[in-house]
Amino acid sequence: MKPKIAFFDFACCEGCQLQVVNLEAEMLDVIGAVDIVQFREAMTEKRDDYAIAFVEGSITRERDIPRLKKIREQAAILVALGACATIGGVNCLKNFQPSDEVRKYVYGERADWYETLAARPIDAVVPVDCYIHGCPIHKGEFLKVVKALLMGKKPEIPTYPVCVECKRAGNVCIFELGMTCLGPVTRAGCGAWCPTYQDNCAGCRGLIPDPNTNAEKEVLKKYGLTVEEAIGQFRIFLGYSEAAK
Ligand code: SF4
Ligand code: SF4
Ligand code: SF4
Repeated sequence: MKPKIAFFDFACCEGCQLQVVNLEAEMLDVIGAVDIVQFREAMTEKRDDYAIAFVEGSITRERDIPRLKKIREQAAILVALGACATIGGVNCLKNFQPSDEVRKYVYGERADWYETLAARPIDAVVPVDCYIHGCPIHKGEFLKVVKALLMGKKPEIPTYPVCVECKRAGNVCIFELGMTCLGPVTRAGCGAWCPTYQDNCAGCRGLIPDPNTNAEKEVLKKYGLTVEEAIGQFRIFLGYSEAAK
């Protein structure tokens, strides 16, 4: 029997689910190997007998919590899909301002109609078995993770920094272009997507484990920065990270 999988979304732009839909021909291989029972972005049928749940988005309302817990209870394997789910992502920018001010800014006179909670990644609420990082996710990595899960293996997610992939690609370092880059402390796996197109890494894949030990410190040192100073310059994706506070 094919494993049953389902996709769910919380606060997010749904761009990571779109990446999955955009797999097109490659998605046909996945569809051949699994039974997709729920995927709002791509189909109208809906069943709750899934074994693997892909959850996109961060938790931003009280009512999200019981919904996520119910998904966790049903799923044998819970996968966090994209930065909003894995690290809180851009939604956590609101955590830097008083919650009432943010609500008024967004909803104006109707602010009281809408509940809100400090944004958080899904593993702040339930245990997560596997992470697919990035904003948006990398299509190739999604396929790699799905294949590993179907073979009963733990997907391998890099623990080394983006700089490693960037140097391998022969890119000119973004610091040389006068910008600051989070590549020395950010988890690799995107193939140094942004520096390859002359943009800085903003940390969408989250920090590497123990950045103070594992960072590409010589890059930071060359440009006069410490790990803390580099992280401190980026709030866009690291709002939930203790290291960024
Ligand atoms: S991680 Fe980025 S692309 Fe994915 S849902 Fe969140 S905001 Fe959208
Ligand atoms: S700091 Fe950024 S641009 Fe420079 S090597 Fe590292 S990832 Fe590449
Ligand atoms: S280079 Fe950095 S910001 Fe760009 S996709 Fe990779 S991890 Fe994300």
